[in-house]
Amino acid sequence: MLEFMRRERAAKIISTLGPSSTSPEIIASLFEAGADVFRLNFSHGTHEEHKERYDTIREIEKKFDRPIGIIADLQGPKIRVGNFADGKIELKNGAKLILDSDHDTDGNVERVSISNPEIYPSLEPGVEMLLDDGKLKVVVEKNHGTSIETKVVVGGILSNHKGINIPGAVLPMSALTDKDRRDLQFALNLGVDWIALSFVQRPEDVAEARRLIAGRAGVLVKMEKPLAIEHLDQIVELADALMVARGDLGVEAPPEDVPGLQKKIIRRARVEGKPVIVATQMLESMINSPTPTRAEASDVATAVFDGADAVMLSAETAAGDFPLEAVSMMNRIIERAEQDEHYDILRMRDRRQPRGTDADAITAAARQVAQNIDAAAIVTFTQTGSTTLRAARERPEVPILGLTPILETARRLVLAWGVHPVKIPLFQEFDEVVECAIEVAANEEFASSGQRLIITAGVPFGTPGATNILRIVWVD
Ligand code: PGA
Ligand code: MN
Repeated sequence: MLEFMRRERAAKIISTLGPSSTSPEIIASLFEAGADVFRLNFSHGTHEEHKERYDTIREIEKKFDRPIGIIADLQGPKIRVGNFADGKIELKNGAKLILDSDHDTDGNVERVSISNPEIYPSLEPGVEMLLDDGKLKVVVEKNHGTSIETKVVVGGILSNHKGINIPGAVLPMSALTDKDRRDLQFALNLGVDWIALSFVQRPEDVAEARRLIAGRAGVLVKMEKPLAIEHLDQIVELADALMVARGDLGVEAPPEDVPGLQKKIIRRARVEGKPVIVATQMLESMINSPTPTRAEASDVATAVFDGADAVMLSAETAAGDFPLEAVSMMNRIIERAEQDEHYDILRMRDRRQPRGTDADAITAAARQVAQNIDAAAIVTFTQTGSTTLRAARERPEVPILGLTPILETARRLVLAWGVHPVKIPLFQEFDEVVECAIEVAANEEFASSGQRLIITAGVPFGTPGATNILRIVWVD
């Protein structure tokens, strides 16, 4: 077995895999450099490619004896233009462009087909449509039922298959396309830990996905539609984790809105104690450069100061020239931010009030006691992970060990702030559990002889959510 160095930070790193990160050697080095969770992006690549990467990650997990989280990110209902006879057209400001569903005829400057004809009824006159990541803009003038007349507001070059964003309309589409449903079954059969849902518009989208996933993976909702923010409370309630997906959110909302929305989503997720990820363009310039801009370094640190559970790399590790440098750099930025005095000020200011449950009361006390006696770590025992997530919600000053007999729980908990999950045997007696906690904390370099641990557990074991014990133990 290979030696694993424990992480010296609380916020986690997600690395998206792609053409730049396929070989087992590269994926292993990304893990060693700091990637805690890997994302398989089903907008690209074949099932075979995803399976190969999945198997590689599980091999690495075995070699290092550390649980690793895996996210399958579904493409979602991304609307696209069809083909052009010349591959592309130039749209002039003020020109007319007709959108229809005649996929058999290549497009030209006058007309082009678009996917998802079910959106036509939502395209009322005045609705704005953004093309190619918001670079071009057309506005609907007439809706003929089976074709849409638009006028070009911001022109430019439009090429085959570019994406369309329609920020102002709730589209009558499920968040899961036929492709998504096939990818979902495939990913669940592989055994991924999280399913990420793209372009969620309504709470019902999350509820539908939840039914299909049926507990086999966590439900990670990507917030990338401004209209979904109007249902933020309900969506957070239905989700197991959230992502501030700034790529598409930043196309659908003006740039100046994104920072506030990022903070709003993080705040709501943290109130509920659900993991929240900040994603996209974090170290964008590192796609082609071994060092980031200082503004990018500051962006990663801001997400950490905001109290996000995790930060994500997309093209930087999936398709960039410096995947390893990007992960190492992110690792260093997080470590430095968490050592900054500003971090403690914000941690205290943003701490959430415990709810009136046994688990929250014990967890809040555990944090307080750990701080008072300068304990080495808080150790939580969990079946489903929920007790450990409540501990993470407290944002304690010391690391949280999440001990669980269930491997799937350990893998899912990797995403959570400050949590170091460990799979342990199933115990019946509390004394055995205490012994195990001490052993794990010492072995994994979280505590040494002469230090104390705070242990929280529910007795009798096996009753989920029944946290009723707080114990201080010495490591000898
Ligand atoms: P994507 O999602 O990378 O799948 O587009 C993230 C985002 O939009 O920010
Ligand atoms: Mn997106």
